[in-house]
Amino acid sequence: MTTPELAVILSKNGVENAIAPNNELAVNCLLCGDTKLHARISVKLGWVHCHRKGCNQRLSSYLRSLKINVKLQRDWVKTSGPIDKLEGLFNGHENHKTENISVDLSEVAEEFSDSKMSMMALSYLASRGIGPAEVDLYHIMLGKGTQTGRVVIPFTENGDVVYYQARAFLVPAYKKVTNPNLADVSHGKSEWLYNADLARQYKTVVITEGWASAISSGTNAVAIQGNQASVAQLDKLTSWWRRFVICLDAGMEGETCKLAAQIKDRDPYAQIRVVWLDHGDPNDFRSVMRHLIDAAPQYNWLEGMARCLKLS
Ligand SMILES: [Zn+2]
Repeated sequence: MTTPELAVILSKNGVENAIAPNNELAVNCLLCGDTKLHARISVKLGWVHCHRKGCNQRLSSYLRSLKINVKLQRDWVKTSGPIDKLEGLFNGHENHKTENISVDLSEVAEEFSDSKMSMMALSYLASRGIGPAEVDLYHIMLGKGTQTGRVVIPFTENGDVVYYQARAFLVPAYKKVTNPNLADVSHGKSEWLYNADLARQYKTVVITEGWASAISSGTNAVAIQGNQASVAQLDKLTSWWRRFVICLDAGMEGETCKLAAQIKDRDPYAQIRVVWLDHGDPNDFRSVMRHLIDAAPQYNWLEGMARCLKLS
C-alpha cells in the first residue's frame, strides 16, 4: 500500500487526514483524544506516532480500531480517479523542505549584547562549560518576552529553526517553564535531533540525551531530548548516518541497548560504538569526552546484556 492509497481509503471512510512531510499522513491520534491531527502515519514503517503525547501504535491496529479492512478497499482505490492527483500532490510535497514548521524566534529571543541580562546569561552558560565560542557556534540566544530570564537554544534542521528549548538563568523566579508552549511550535521535542545540521557534516554521529550533553560531546553530536529515540528521530538517524556512537547518561544501560537494537533493526550494516559512563552525563566528562568517544568500543550484545543485568 502506498501513502496516497491510504489517504484515499481514510478519506473514503470519513477519517480526517492531511499530507505531512516525509511522505507521511497527519491524522488524529486515537489513543490520547487528539483532535488536531497530531499523529503521523508512516506507511513505510507501518507505524503511527503521535507528537501530542508521544503515543505509538502499529498502523495495522490503528486501522483495526477504525474498522477499516485495507485489503477489501484497495481495488476500489486502484480504479478511483483521485489517486493520480494525490500521488502528484505527495511528490510535489517532497520537494518542499518544510511545511510551515519553522519557528520564529524573534518574539522570544535576541542576540546577546552588553546588557546586564546578557552578562548574567553568559555567566550562567559559562558555569555549564559553554563559552563564547559555543554560544556563537550553536547560536544560543537571550530569551525575551515569555522567555525572559532564560537562555534560548535553537534547534535547526535543513537551515530552518524548527524548535527551541529554554533554560532559566535567573533562579528561582523563572525556573518553572523552560520549554516552548505547544502553541508556539508545531512539533514537539521528540521530532527533532538537536544539532543535526552541524553533525550532518560528519560521517559519525554521537547520540546524547540533551542539548548540553551534545555540546559537551563535540560538533558531530546530536541530542534526542530524552533517553529513547522516537520513530521520527530513528528515521533521521538511520537515513543520515551509518556510524554511531551512543552516549546516554549513566544508568541508561537498557535504553542504550534498545537504541542500538533499533538502529541495527533499520540498518543491519550500521556501525555502533558505545560510551558507557559510570556516573553523571557527558557534561561531567566535558574535558575528556573527545577521548572517550574516539576510544569507544564496538557495541557488543553480550556486554550490553551483562551491563543491563549489572554483571560487569
Ligand atoms: Zn496521542
